[in-house]
Amino acid sequence: PYEVLVVGGGPAGAAAAIYAARKGIRTGILTERFGGQVLDTMAIENFPSVEYTEGPKLAASLEAHVRSYGVELVTSQRAKALHPATEDGGFVGIELESGATLRARTVVLAPGARWRQTGVPGEAEYRNRGVTYCPHCDGPLFKGKRVAVIGGGNSGVEAAIDLAGLVEHVTLLEFDGKLRADDVLQRKLYSLPNASVHVNAQTTAFTGDGSKLQALEYTDRGTGVAHRIDVAGVFVQIGLLPNSEWLKDTVLLTPRGEIVIDDRGHTNLAGVFAAGDATTEPFKQIVVAMGAGSTAALSAFDHLIRHSAP
Ligand code: FAD
Repeated sequence: PYEVLVVGGGPAGAAAAIYAARKGIRTGILTERFGGQVLDTMAIENFPSVEYTEGPKLAASLEAHVRSYGVELVTSQRAKALHPATEDGGFVGIELESGATLRARTVVLAPGARWRQTGVPGEAEYRNRGVTYCPHCDGPLFKGKRVAVIGGGNSGVEAAIDLAGLVEHVTLLEFDGKLRADDVLQRKLYSLPNASVHVNAQTTAFTGDGSKLQALEYTDRGTGVAHRIDVAGVFVQIGLLPNSEWLKDTVLLTPRGEIVIDDRGHTNLAGVFAAGDATTEPFKQIVVAMGAGSTAALSAFDHLIRHSAP
């Protein structure tokens, strides 16, 4: 059995494994793929000390760093259930879709999240070529240009306010008849001279020249009239879905599926810790996920020295 078994090989899981392995304890990572969302990222310009890198490059150096400590990597496997310890200091089981079960004294859950997509034509084609999901990451790429945000919840309205400070003009589209964001955010958005809002707007297509996004098409659900707006970028902000479905019977989750953690990365279960985009951590960023992974691993080590035989 492992002393620390990390589920998820994104930045949170990789940082957790490095911190655990440096304590000289048997550490494993179980992950469907190594690198997580970072693998889907082109330019990364907000990783402090690295002015510019690309996702696959960062993922490769994370993997090399993890391997240099002898962490056991189990890849191309998915966890399908967690079995809590039945006694204080007992083993936690991670059951895989293949049928096998891995046992560990402590587990760090870092299964990450995925952006909800609109599913309309052009979204996949122009992903990272104008269609994006992360204002903190990609906002500066659209400096001085016209952009749109899809989604009128807190994240969409926050994104529009944030972008308005950088871009020429931002249009926010909401499918529903009204915005769902907090009043204070809505008031701020409506006060901005270079932002406009369309409610009842159903996005129908992303179009471009084959290499770059040029426009977004939507239908007004009230009038049935089709519209087209010229934009260099669209930020899709219709939800981030934690990869936590397999934990819902055992680990305490919020109604949105986020794993509930305290400021030391503890979940509701003894010996089970969590970090990164799958958790209640409010900011979903690489450097934040790495910090949280380190915290969770140090908490797991703290648990081990209190509960294990010498
Ligand atoms: P993830 O990166 O999501 O990794 C989770 C891992 O767990 C994955 O490898 C997955 O395969 C595995 N997994 C999930 N479920 C299971 C299971 N049941 N069994 C086994 N394995 C499982 N952040 C920045 O700071 N800067 C940026 O420039 C930036 N750009 C981004 C661009 C894009 C297109 C996207 C999508 C995100 C971007 N982000 C950026 C956000 C950043 O990538 C995430 O905050 C970060 O990757 C979260 O790390 P994580 O380890 O929590 O989860």
